[in-house]
Amino acid sequence: MGGYHSPWADEETHQVGHLARSFFERSVLPHTQRFGAQHRVDRETWTEAGRLGLLCPSIPQEYGGGGGTFAHEAAVLWEQGRLADDCLPYAIHSTVVPHYVERYGSEEQKRRWLPALAAGTLVGAIAMSEPSGGSDLKRVRTVARREGDHYVISGAKSFVTNGSMAGLVLVVARTGEQGAHGLSIIGVEKEHATGLSHGGPLKKIGQHGQDTRELFLDDVRVPVENLIGESEGRGFAQLMAQLPQERLAIAVGAVAQAEYAVELAVRYAKERTVFGGPLWDLQNTRLTLADCATEVRIARVFLDHCVVRHLSGGLDAATASQSKYHSTDLLSSVADRCLQVFGGYGYVLEYPIARIYAGARVQRIYGGANEVMRELVARSM
Ligand SMILES: Cc1cc2nc3c(=O)[nH]c(=O)nc-3n(C[C@H](O)[C@H](O)[C@H](O)COP(=O)(O)OP(=O)(O)OC[C@H]3O[C@@H](n4cnc5c(N)ncnc54)[C@H](O)[C@@H]3O)c2cc1C
Repeated sequence: MGGYHSPWADEETHQVGHLARSFFERSVLPHTQRFGAQHRVDRETWTEAGRLGLLCPSIPQEYGGGGGTFAHEAAVLWEQGRLADDCLPYAIHSTVVPHYVERYGSEEQKRRWLPALAAGTLVGAIAMSEPSGGSDLKRVRTVARREGDHYVISGAKSFVTNGSMAGLVLVVARTGEQGAHGLSIIGVEKEHATGLSHGGPLKKIGQHGQDTRELFLDDVRVPVENLIGESEGRGFAQLMAQLPQERLAIAVGAVAQAEYAVELAVRYAKERTVFGGPLWDLQNTRLTLADCATEVRIARVFLDHCVVRHLSGGLDAATASQSKYHSTDLLSSVADRCLQVFGGYGYVLEYPIARIYAGARVQRIYGGANEVMRELVARSM
């Protein structure tokens, strides 16, 4: 089904998308099984993406980035979703972590971390969630107490994407009173962080190639210069300002995967014979896939509306939440219906539809559970 072009896409983002597509096809997809077995991509996967200029495309060039906009990030995320890659945690590394540094970091932090993140020689992670809870960020228990020129950080973080590969972890920790105003974000560099360790790979039902770990901080000493922001207590406000972009990035990937799922199912239904004729000729198949295609197109138009608003600086948190929960709920539902078209083959991980289905489930949980998203929308009404 053609005839639709995202209004934010132009010649330049098409080129970025093209480059991203060939990178994923060449250097990621053929290794899906191996990455899944080792629960992470190779170190070189990141550096190759960096060499190609695919990492941090919206970070200013003076800090090693591509000097583009969110549209350039979206072009990469879109192609990754359209290929159903679920191994490379591109969004966390490129669309999330560097933006905290770029927006709130000191000049010294920007010069130290951003070029390395853009080159892929430094992998980024953000550690908000804790074993006691990920949704209620105001109750973060990890503590960073001041000792002279250092913070001494203690606590545990759960579900950290890039947890074992990351050289830079943005840790959300309590530097002050209980509640939102006592939180700060501190850049922990693994190389210098005695007392920082991670658990084994979490064996998830999908996204097997992603490096998701628990992190343990046992009196980790970090120079006070690694505080993100000019003063303590700004962490919660920084999270609230940056989470809409993270949620939009999730939405881009979700709609792209949903679109791909429909394409895969249509192709399969036209090739597969049941009861002596094409599966596609059964009205149930045709109507199901027509419904899926229509719902995906509506989601894409709304997503594009959000991307355009974000590019002009006008995307509010509630609208970003709408896009995140709507697109990820839709992905789950579309993946489920499309998988059914494949019959038993849809349950076999070798088929991309199976990976889309398994990877869809968590997208309703991370980046803010969809119930929390709906709560944020309701609060704005
Ligand atoms: C694969 C994966 C990767 C992740 N990557 C990262 C990462 O890189 N960094 C990071 O910090 N975290 C990461 N997370 C954690 C993720 O963000 C949290 O799992 C999520 O925020 C939910 O927190 P929780 O699991 O503690 O669930 P809880 O906070 O205990 O919530 C459990 C459930 O309760 C319901 N709920 C919660 N709050 C409300 C509410 N206000 N109203 C109604 N219902 C509610 C929701 O259904 C929710 O799913 C990742 C998680 C996974 C699974």
